Amino acid sequence: MPLFTPSVRKVMQIISDAGYEVSVVGGAVRDMVFGRVPKEYDICTDACPRAVMTLAAENRIKAYRKGAAFGVMAWILDGEEIEIATYRTEIYGKDAHRPEKVEFVWALEDDLARRDFTVNAMAMNLKGEIFDPFGGRKALEEKVLRAVGDPEERFEEDALRIFRACRFVAEYGFTIEDDTREAIVYALPRVAGLSVERVRDEIEKILLAPQAVKGLRLMQETGLFNTACRCRSCGSEEIIPVLPELDRLVGVEQNPKYHSLDVWDHTLSVVENVTPEPLFRWAALLHDVAKGLPGVRRLNKHDFPADYGHAGVGADIALTIMNRLRMPPAFAGRVAWLVREHMDYPKPVEESVVKWLKRLSGGISGRKELAEATRQSLILRAADLRGGKVDPDQIIHENVILENMVQHCLIKVPFYAEDLAISGGEVASLVGRGPQVKQMLSILLERVQNGDLSNDQLALREAVRKKALRLGITDPEKARHRRNAGSGK
Ligand code: ATP
Ligand code: MG
Repeated sequence: MPLFTPSVRKVMQIISDAGYEVSVVGGAVRDMVFGRVPKEYDICTDACPRAVMTLAAENRIKAYRKGAAFGVMAWILDGEEIEIATYRTEIYGKDAHRPEKVEFVWALEDDLARRDFTVNAMAMNLKGEIFDPFGGRKALEEKVLRAVGDPEERFEEDALRIFRACRFVAEYGFTIEDDTREAIVYALPRVAGLSVERVRDEIEKILLAPQAVKGLRLMQETGLFNTACRCRSCGSEEIIPVLPELDRLVGVEQNPKYHSLDVWDHTLSVVENVTPEPLFRWAALLHDVAKGLPGVRRLNKHDFPADYGHAGVGADIALTIMNRLRMPPAFAGRVAWLVREHMDYPKPVEESVVKWLKRLSGGISGRKELAEATRQSLILRAADLRGGKVDPDQIIHENVILENMVQHCLIKVPFYAEDLAISGGEVASLVGRGPQVKQMLSILLERVQNGDLSNDQLALREAVRKKALRLGITDPEKARHRRNAGSGK
């Protein structure tokens, strides 16, 4: 029994009862054959778009024309949107991705022939029978990714298929067939016609896939990192590089005391060692991006390669890349921050951890964010160390101790004025309103952090009172008037 949802089955039944051919096609069939539950179901039929809309109306089903020019309709059943497309073929022109026009066709095989890879060019009918004119099932069994028809033509038609190829390799661990791989290399100049947003989204899907490393290796080996794509900003269009900064890392040797891998292989291992979340994967991908650069690479006193300051330089490069790829600014900032901080960790003793957190708090806006950012930083650190030569059990042990100490300090020590047990308003009531409130709060914060004042309201009030006395402020109102008179207000 095919794994169709009740809504999909119902749509197919209605179309079939009306005398049309109907099947599920593309990714859903690939996933079912591969033993995965499909994310979505695309339905294909020989019914023309008008007939599909009429059938929906007759069955009182909400429907709309989703991509009328492409013959794609959508029916909405029980809140689920199901796409129904009329068999079509696509004719490509100058655009690097979009077909110039589509033509409806009568045979399912002609529709399947326009699809990118053989594993994506299968159809399944209501009975669960598979129509597989291009050998998709065998390719799936052998875990081989092969273009439908002539690979060169397929990538020439639509350059996004190059990224899709890397994505399917990363998603399913496929091996790419030689001709298909060669055709990718041949079609690389076509990437220049793709928009940066599409390219970025595909790269991120590759990064988040279960076998991301396989996809990234394919990108590197085919030369995809060294391509350029187009970016539209302020009405003008420019050509921007995809990710040449990563290609440079291949073969960059590291200090053999800490590493057995070159920078690229180490980077891939760190990517693999973090959970598949965008922030971790991007930070892992870019964390050593400055290694080996002139000005960063030196030889240490034992004549081994060393990259002093690579974290800082790398953070600037990471930010440039993130901005170039039009990443949201807050996300880009955090990735760059993680890269910047990835070499600088304290010993797991309270004094050092407080000092570290104090420094970091300067660039982070509040306690909650500081806790989040440091947690992320320690996750990246563990992955980074695991990608080196150190014994993993030792790293995990050390990192857990540091994590616990960080949590302990974040609870015990205030790092922001808001965390003090006295408010700005209260301080103002003791010293008068004005810049002295902020000054007083930072004096209190410093003293509490250093451990010579406890963070409770009475102690803090007393400290403010004493300081005010020392400054000669006995009546805050008078003090304010005096100040205002002095400044001519
Ligand atoms: P996913 O599981 O990520 O959704 P998918 O293969 O289903 O992968 P979709 O973008 O949903 O990808 O497309 C559905 C189907 O349409 C594909 O399986 C493929 O048959 C076809 N298709 C999609 N994009 C292209 C393309 N650029 N060129 C050719 N065929 C494509
Ligand atoms: Mg899909």
